[in-house]
Amino acid sequence: MGMTDVLIVGAGPVGMAGAIELHRRGASVRIVDREGARTKLSKAVGINSQTLELLEPSGLTERLLAAGIRIARANLHFDGKPLVTLNLDRADHRFNFILALPQSATEGILEAALAERGVTVERETEMVAFSRHADSVTVSLRGPSGEGEAIAGRVLGADGPRSAIRQGLGIPFTGARYEETWSLADVTLDWPYGYREVNLFLHANGALLFTVPIAPDRIRAISQTDNALALLPSGSVVRETHWQSTFHVALRQAERYQDGRCFLAGDAAHVHSPAGGRGMNLGIWDACAFASRHAAGTLDGYTAERHAIGARILAITDRMFRVARLKPGIAQSARNLVMRHVVPIPAIQRRIAPQLLGIER
Ligand SMILES: Cc1cc2nc3c(=O)[nH]c(=O)nc-3n(C[C@H](O)[C@H](O)[C@H](O)COP(=O)(O)OP(=O)(O)OC[C@H]3O[C@@H](n4cnc5c(N)ncnc54)[C@H](O)[C@@H]3O)c2cc1C
Repeated sequence: MGMTDVLIVGAGPVGMAGAIELHRRGASVRIVDREGARTKLSKAVGINSQTLELLEPSGLTERLLAAGIRIARANLHFDGKPLVTLNLDRADHRFNFILALPQSATEGILEAALAERGVTVERETEMVAFSRHADSVTVSLRGPSGEGEAIAGRVLGADGPRSAIRQGLGIPFTGARYEETWSLADVTLDWPYGYREVNLFLHANGALLFTVPIAPDRIRAISQTDNALALLPSGSVVRETHWQSTFHVALRQAERYQDGRCFLAGDAAHVHSPAGGRGMNLGIWDACAFASRHAAGTLDGYTAERHAIGARILAITDRMFRVARLKPGIAQSARNLVMRHVVPIPAIQRRIAPQLLGIER
């Protein structure tokens, strides 16, 4: 096989979005993943306005919109009482809603679109080593039929938080782990809030529960405590639990997103708390920026652009998380006063809504 323009390691949402965008812009691309199948887990459930805009030229947005649930309202509660409702449709944007769709479904749409372009994800194929030369990268792959080598003009590491590409390049992943054990549950339940709005339940003791509808009869509950379901409002009756998990969250960013002909995107370059639902969206944005710079011949500026944007979003998610989990005290009272009396003002909502939707101008 001859030289490929870009070899992508990792066929999560970021690698596949990158492959589609590179192909759309005329590059030859291969994409490998060590797993035999796509994730079946719902993991990231919110697609934001920025992503919908980025994926429009490839025709993906239309398919995502047809599959997901449009959410235009976010309710905040404090100790069981309503605090404020945010109307996301106050944002001056065509996509003035969050599109709720389980990651497994998003990945299914991406992989089908890739296949239509004649690009097949090479599964059960692990990148085990790579060596860099002046005008190419040689990648050793271990696949179903043994070991082989691929030669690529550039390599995009979309290989998740433990990225072997990042480690092979010796790029530090700076940051720290949050101390809490988080939990999530996808459930069908009877409760007063329906299946069309997101809810954030804040508690005086700093515990928080966030809920997002992920299907017409299903919500994702997520909390920075080890039992999200224990924080459901009183009177809620869980009918069926589809998935439950606990996990730890870190705030880390790669110090550089590129070294020579190798590049990083997505969780390989940054991880942060689920507050704000930015993780997958930021990664897809990296991948689209990579493809656009690859076509324009401006990859030298990739780190400068992506590291600055990543640092800003990591800081936003960290701030949102800290404000949401404030313990009793002056800061908590001040937050609640602002939520109750300032946030309802329409002019303020017009400013907050774009931030929640990830609209960057
Ligand atoms: C339990 C859980 C809940 C989450 N909830 C949310 C949420 O609510 N909101 C949100 O925004 N995000 C959430 N996330 C994070 C979100 O899933 C990630 O941000 C997203 O998957 C990142 O996509 P990615 O393509 O960068 O990496 P990944 O999805 O991790 O994909 C990386 C791929 O690389 C492959 N790979 C790795 N190493 C190699 C190798 N050497 N050779 C070949 N292939 C390799 C892996 O098999 C994998 O398929 C959650 C994650 C978890 C685990």
